[in-house]
Formats: sequence, C-alpha cells, structure tokens
Amino acid sequence: MIEDIDNDVFVRLQTDLLVVGDSIMTDRHHASNGNYEADDPQNQIGGIIPAFPLSGWLRHGMEEIVHQYDGTACHPGEATANFMKSDVYERDLDAGYHEKGACTDDPKEDDGCVVFDLFGGFGGVPGKVMRRPIKFNPVRYSIDYTRGEAEGHYRRLNRNIVSRNREDNRDPLRNAEVDAVANLDGCWHLSFREMKPEFIGLLAESIDFLDTHKTDFMYQLGGARNFGAGIVNCHLINPLYKERELKRVFDRGKSNTSKMDEKDDQWAAEYRPAFVDTLEERIEEEP
Ligand SMILES: [Zn+2]
Repeated sequence: MIEDIDNDVFVRLQTDLLVVGDSIMTDRHHASNGNYEADDPQNQIGGIIPAFPLSGWLRHGMEEIVHQYDGTACHPGEATANFMKSDVYERDLDAGYHEKGACTDDPKEDDGCVVFDLFGGFGGVPGKVMRRPIKFNPVRYSIDYTRGEAEGHYRRLNRNIVSRNREDNRDPLRNAEVDAVANLDGCWHLSFREMKPEFIGLLAESIDFLDTHKTDFMYQLGGARNFGAGIVNCHLINPLYKERELKRVFDRGKSNTSKMDEKDDQWAAEYRPAFVDTLEERIEEEP
C-alpha cells in the first residue's frame, strides 16, 4: 500500500495573514527595478517563507498526536543544552516528552521514536522528512503548485506604539516594521527521504489536528498571533493524486474529476486508516 505513495507529499495551506518576523526573504529589489515603495499596492513582490516556522508548527502538531496515542516524543531541545528555564524543561519531560535522542542507543542504527525518525537533529541524523521553504508570488499564473509554491501578497506593516500620557497627544514612542504575507494559498512540499506508512498516518492526523485547532494560540503559525495572524486552514492533499490532479485542486475553474473522487474514497476508506493503524502500533512498541 505504501508503495502507492510518492515520496513527495503536499499540504495545502491557506491563511489570511502570516507574520514570520524578519525572516521572510523577498525578491523586491530585483522585482521592483530599483524603485520599490514599501506601501505601493502595485508591488509585485514574491519571496520565500523559510521552513523553520513551518517545521516547528508541524512538529508541534505531530507531538500532540503522539501524546494522544499515549506515546512520548523527543524534546526539540538538546538534553545537554543550558536551558534558561530548566524547571520548564523538566516539566516538559513530565508532560509527554523524553530527552532528545533518549529513544535511540545509536542514532545511525536505530530509528528511535517516530518524531526522531522524522525530524532527527541528534548525532548528525537529518531526519527522514525534508521540510522545504514555500516560495510565494502574487501572480497566480506563474505559481507552480507541484513545486511547493503558493499565491501570496507581501506587505511591510508598520506598527506605532504611542505614548499613553495625555499631554503627549498619542506621540509615537516607537515604530516597528514587520514583514507579512497576506492571502496565502498554496502547497507546502514535504519530501520523504524514506517512506514509511506511519509517517503518512502521523502527517494526516496532525494536519487534521492543526486545522481543527487553528485558532488556538498554541497552534497558530508564526508571529503576531495576538493580532489574528497565523490562523491556518490546512489539509493534506490526497497523496494518491498525480501531478495534474494536484494542479486541478488549485484551478478555480475546475472541479474534481471522477477519478479524483474515487481516489478520495480510497484514501479515506483504505489507505489512511491502514497508515494510522501502523502509527498506533509503532507508538505502542516504543519504550
Ligand atoms: Zn525520541
């Protein structure tokens, strides 16, 4: 069954507003021909959303699913790190985490827990899922969804923090600029270096979890969450789809073919439950 799943899997992400601090990389210099004006709505700026915040968000969702199946997950921080809040780290270990890498005697030989297997990060092991950045672009026809791209509109937002003293007449105390992407809709491309059924089971469950909990502060993505940023609608695009079917998902003028509907039924009735069962078995076997 797992042989039917390609090593490249896509997650659809849609969000009204995404803020990832100063880490959006834009191509504004090159796209604007040297006359970039930050507040010109005509700017046709594309850029890259780095994989770090996306990866942390996904990992958090996956850890939660592991907990729901009564497993523990690798803590994302090195056990030997000098944590500023060591009491918090200890509390994490009591709340469903084990020390990073404690699940494997030899990280080059055994796979450890499923979170370690996927994310690695210990003993020079990279993990079996490669999380790619998302390239975004405001011009829809130039977006290649099969390469993990998205439609998105870059804006630089200004925030003024004003004085609260009446006599200051709301004088700005400080001005902060943040990079944001508005109306993001596209694909996040995940490549598995090695495919296992439990990986897809965990991915499917955690993406559903993140979608259901999208307005929980803990499961929003990126910064500015208090201001409604990072509320992400997400779903795993049927891994049984072929490339042209994936493209069709994003074509507003077209609906599912009957072949796609058939694959959706197969996915829901056979593949997904089988992969989730394997996940459950693996978590049960873990120490
Ligand atoms: Zn582990």
